[in-house]
Amino acid sequence: MNSEFIIEPERKTRVLDHVDVLVVGGGPSGIMAAQAAAESGMSVILIEGKSFLGGNLTIGLPILNFHGQKGNQIIKGLPAKFVDRLANMGGASAIQRCPLHMSITFIEPEEAKLAAINVMRENNVSVLLNTFCVDTIVEGTDLKGVIIENKGGRSAVLAKVVIDCSGDGDIAFRAGARFEKGNSKGLMQPATLEFCLKNVDIDKLRYSVYTYPETYDTTVIPAEYYRENRYFILVGLQEQMRQAKRDGLELPVDTTVIVTGLGEDEIWVNMTRVLGTDGTDAASVTNAEFEARKQIDHLLKYFRGYVPGFENCYVSRTAPFIGIRETRRIVGKYTLQREDILSRRQFEDGVAVVSYPLDIHQPDGNGFSLEWSGDCYDIPYGSLVPEKINNLLMAGRCISASHEAMASSRVMGPCMAMGEAAGRAAYLAVKHGITPAEVDTRELRGELLDRGAFLRT
Ligand SMILES: Cc1cc2nc3c(=O)[nH]c(=O)nc-3n(C[C@H](O)[C@H](O)[C@H](O)COP(=O)(O)OP(=O)(O)OC[C@H]3O[C@@H](n4cnc5c(N)ncnc54)[C@H](O)[C@@H]3O)c2cc1C
Repeated sequence: MNSEFIIEPERKTRVLDHVDVLVVGGGPSGIMAAQAAAESGMSVILIEGKSFLGGNLTIGLPILNFHGQKGNQIIKGLPAKFVDRLANMGGASAIQRCPLHMSITFIEPEEAKLAAINVMRENNVSVLLNTFCVDTIVEGTDLKGVIIENKGGRSAVLAKVVIDCSGDGDIAFRAGARFEKGNSKGLMQPATLEFCLKNVDIDKLRYSVYTYPETYDTTVIPAEYYRENRYFILVGLQEQMRQAKRDGLELPVDTTVIVTGLGEDEIWVNMTRVLGTDGTDAASVTNAEFEARKQIDHLLKYFRGYVPGFENCYVSRTAPFIGIRETRRIVGKYTLQREDILSRRQFEDGVAVVSYPLDIHQPDGNGFSLEWSGDCYDIPYGSLVPEKINNLLMAGRCISASHEAMASSRVMGPCMAMGEAAGRAAYLAVKHGITPAEVDTRELRGELLDRGAFLRT
């Protein structure tokens, strides 16, 4: 036997299902894509590798960017309904203005999982959890379906349209689509394992920040914000971190980044950082999970020793998996560029509107940078359609965008809006018996507007 490779025998694979639309990945983009297609009467299956739905909605992050830099609401439609549902369940704060992120909605991960299940059930989306898409069925350049694996073994699901919402572009990659990864040196934004601290005296923290802004810096967010808002993101406290480092603590970042949870004494921490992680390489992700857990110990000492209100805090939970900011970006009919964002470009085939700044956590560990354009830009439909593979759409983190552009479009509000757009495009493709690339974008935009989405006209 060759010790480098083995030849797998040919095998007969059972076809589990034939559907109109197959969505891979049950994160913010996937649940919206599945709902949008199912709402229009399509038979839809959603395949999710983990044991729950929600993707990064479940790792302790707030949803960003429902409002634009001019203050207007730019994400409506299904994403807004989802957030309303979460709020009605007690799982989300109001959508709140944020000087740094335009708007921010604080959510409870467990409720997000439940809300996602409910939306799928109500719309008759068939869901398979603990099931990984491992390959694609391609004839020529036509994608016919995917191969899935789970405890029951291996089977096939055939579909008229597949929507890749895997974050990593797994399906497009397996189908042979061209992709890019990282910056000009191939380096990607670092990975972060979120964790939650409880028993935090949040009012004490707020009081310290708004009363002594010269001691507790909060970068571009004015100190007064913390007097007015019970829920907040705090980015700053750099002197406290410098002091902790001088005192011998090993801290992975220079800036404190924390977000209030919905619990009254709860704070989510966005501060572990593992550089050089490749989210598509299991060994690399394993190393990142191990490394991030080691970092939590020092971060806990930092909070207890240097930040007011955290004296008696403890780690109550860690996210179910490490957060991956960036991996494959599938090359599409159009690749969104940094200049499109900074020039607030409007596209004729715009299917979602985004106003989030270019927010790059530098892959070389050099902190992070934020650049605002002053208003919104469009995500063109061409960025959701891969260059060559037919019957495939992308939505979410893996769309066609440059390294810099993706640093803006990647946040969850826009990912949800793109998911809705992809689901509605899949519906039109099936309805007319055409490929997604052939969908009339005027009809698609009309459909989105009729269904309540926000687009610039
Ligand atoms: C550390 C960190 C902090 C962030 N902070 C914020 C923030 O504060 N606010 C914000 O709005 N955004 C934030 N983001 C960005 C945002 O969370 C993601 O870019 C966004 O969630 C991407 O959505 P998605 O639907 O494309 O993918 P994901 O949320 O990653 O969902 C993808 C889903 O697909 C599943 N999947 C993947 N591959 C397969 C497969 N082969 N088969 C079956 N299932 C598969 C995964 O299990 C997952 O459930 C942050 C990201 C990170 C990593």
